[in-house]
Amino acid sequence: MESCTKCGEKEIFLDGLCKKCYLKKNPLLVSFKPVKILICFFCRKYFSNGKWTGFRKLEDLVKDIVQKRLVFNDDAQISSFKLRPIIPKYKDGPNVKVDIQTEIIVFGTYPGKKTVVKEEYVLPVKVIFILCPKCSRHKSGYFEGILQLRDVDDEVIDYAVNEAKKQNQRGIFITKQLKVRNGFDIYLTKRGYIHELGRELLNKFGGETKASKKLFSRDKMRSRDIYRVNVLFRQSKFKKGDILNIDNELFKVKNIDRHLTVANIKTGKKTSIMPKHLKVKAAEEVKETIVSLVFPHVEVLDPETFQSVKPENVRNNKFKVNQKVRVVVLEGNVWLVD
Ligand SMILES: [Zn+2]
Ligand SMILES: [Zn+2]
Repeated sequence: MESCTKCGEKEIFLDGLCKKCYLKKNPLLVSFKPVKILICFFCRKYFSNGKWTGFRKLEDLVKDIVQKRLVFNDDAQISSFKLRPIIPKYKDGPNVKVDIQTEIIVFGTYPGKKTVVKEEYVLPVKVIFILCPKCSRHKSGYFEGILQLRDVDDEVIDYAVNEAKKQNQRGIFITKQLKVRNGFDIYLTKRGYIHELGRELLNKFGGETKASKKLFSRDKMRSRDIYRVNVLFRQSKFKKGDILNIDNELFKVKNIDRHLTVANIKTGKKTSIMPKHLKVKAAEEVKETIVSLVFPHVEVLDPETFQSVKPENVRNNKFKVNQKVRVVVLEGNVWLVD
């Protein structure tokens, strides 16, 4: 009669050992390594494989990391395992450490044996909240350049600040905001993003941008110069619908982005102009008046002389007497601008 070579127990499970002794020697879960997770409490990224990566739920992150650390017994057949991190209430902040007990339950079988073996473990996981290098640079006032907003509406400032704040996950931060003469400066931690935001403002609000760089220091390790970049955004002086006098012809502003799209009031023909090539100082004054005659042709009241006059540009006859219309008077001639 055989008995366990280790403890003398009568019932043999495998390899001349009883079940207890065999499982002690050959557990389903061979090893698990203690887990330490570094999380930036500012941008909510965790550190892994040399880089900082975003995640959604701490519970899922813990499960994911623990799972990768588990080493199962090659001789056994693992049928399933469960992970249950028990996360205590915590408030994150600099150097806060949170201990998370993670229950591990493993089910499996051994060769030639039908009995399902169940093992339970508790794996301690330590989460440490710190500041990632990017966020700590941000905290220390680090910046790679300034977005300089000039002659802008408050709407532009609000938009730029809000957009920049959305970039924290990308490691981009506002280090400083400063009201200056004629505008507003936004100090940002990423050179490339300053250009990106400048382009976005240009497309959304119209105007012009000017970029300049300034030698800031030298990276001795990589022997190259480090520049700070300033991107200046000046909002367009004109709005959609403004009437401009360009070389004595009237144009209506149709669209503003990096270009100004204008339509000739007389011909309707559209042209695109670079704002910096435009010599116009201000939009024409648009006045309201009424239609005074529709037959045999359309006439309106000249808002300056109150005479009934024929406008220079009538392209349809859908007018009614007394209808309000908007006009621009140029050298005594009345132009419809609606
Ligand atoms: Zn035994
Ligand atoms: Zn961070």
